[in-house]
Amino acid sequence: MAQIENSWIAGLGIYEPGKPIEDVARELGLDSADDIIKLASNENALGPSPKAMEAVSAAVRNMHLYPDGGGYYLRKKLAHKFNVSMKNVVLGNGSNELVDLLCMIYLHEGQNLVMAEQSFVAYLLGARKVNAEVRRVPMTAFRHDLPAMLEAIDENTRILCICNPNNPTGTIVSQEEVQDFMDAVPDHVAVIFDEAYIELMDEKDRIDVLPYVLTRPHTYLLRTFSKAYGLAGLRVGYGIGREEDIALFNRVRAPFNINSLALVAAEAAMDDQDHVEKTLRMTQDGLALFEKFFDDKGLSYVKAYGNFMIVKVGSGREVFKALQQRHIITRPMDGYGLSDYLRISIGTEPQNKRLIAAMNELMEQGVIKA
Ligand SMILES: *Cc1c(COP(=O)(O)O)cnc(C)c1O
Repeated sequence: MAQIENSWIAGLGIYEPGKPIEDVARELGLDSADDIIKLASNENALGPSPKAMEAVSAAVRNMHLYPDGGGYYLRKKLAHKFNVSMKNVVLGNGSNELVDLLCMIYLHEGQNLVMAEQSFVAYLLGARKVNAEVRRVPMTAFRHDLPAMLEAIDENTRILCICNPNNPTGTIVSQEEVQDFMDAVPDHVAVIFDEAYIELMDEKDRIDVLPYVLTRPHTYLLRTFSKAYGLAGLRVGYGIGREEDIALFNRVRAPFNINSLALVAAEAAMDDQDHVEKTLRMTQDGLALFEKFFDDKGLSYVKAYGNFMIVKVGSGREVFKALQQRHIITRPMDGYGLSDYLRISIGTEPQNKRLIAAMNELMEQGVIKA
């Protein structure tokens, strides 16, 4: 057979997700997965909002019908929340899909995307899929170095991503840094602000990018229902931008990219601010608990603002394996070039305490090295 597929496809990396609970149960030969906790993918440990679960149950009887391809009610609700027009809002099958679509819209061979070296791998994969180049700019103290990212831009750059808080480092950018950056970024570069974890941040640490997104051409804010809203399994995210730019998505997205259950769940989740508040509190308490533990033990970690942290443990891969033996799934960071770090997601209080107890044991055994 002749090779007729696009030449770069076979060479693409494959996304390595957090390990599913079922996989670990199978590998460990467990009959039940009940004892396993997953603190690997920054999911909401409180689960989905009860309101979202009810809405999904009620919508199940209509799942023989195609969903509303325009996502009218959800977009309307989001437009109201941000005080923008519905035409400023696009929905995605997770914000991950929107990243892919932006790469399809802005990039092709010979062009490039600029991102921080340790940032969300979806940007890298999105650009590579359309055979564009990726420029990864070293971070400074695990933070986006926006001046260095500006330097990395050339005439072929079409997208630049700012992930705030940044996955996997958990760090944030300041309003002043972003303002200076926006003053200098050239017109031929689309700017993506990814705020997947914004709802989990203390109000005082949040910055406002909406004014840029609504006025500067080719500037987008991406958010998701996968984290604070607890709907990672249903796949819903959204983007906000100028009307003209948001219209571009409708030319490239699949006609029914958000399924009917996801649409009603997301609407109901938006109505359950109580659940979001609880999640925020759980996250803040969990971060404080881990900071205290790491400080006490002399483990070095990066001050984090999302619902996850990276901590220096010696060999991240070894510690990941040892924790898995104790039925706790975490995330090694060697894929990001941080092989001595482990990323943990914030869980419920009992889950956090279980992880701390296990890490304590591993320190005593010398598997974790301060
Ligand atoms: C989890 C995450 C997302 C959300 O992805 P979905 O496709 O919406 O589930 C987006 N960006 C970052 C940086 C993330 O960590």
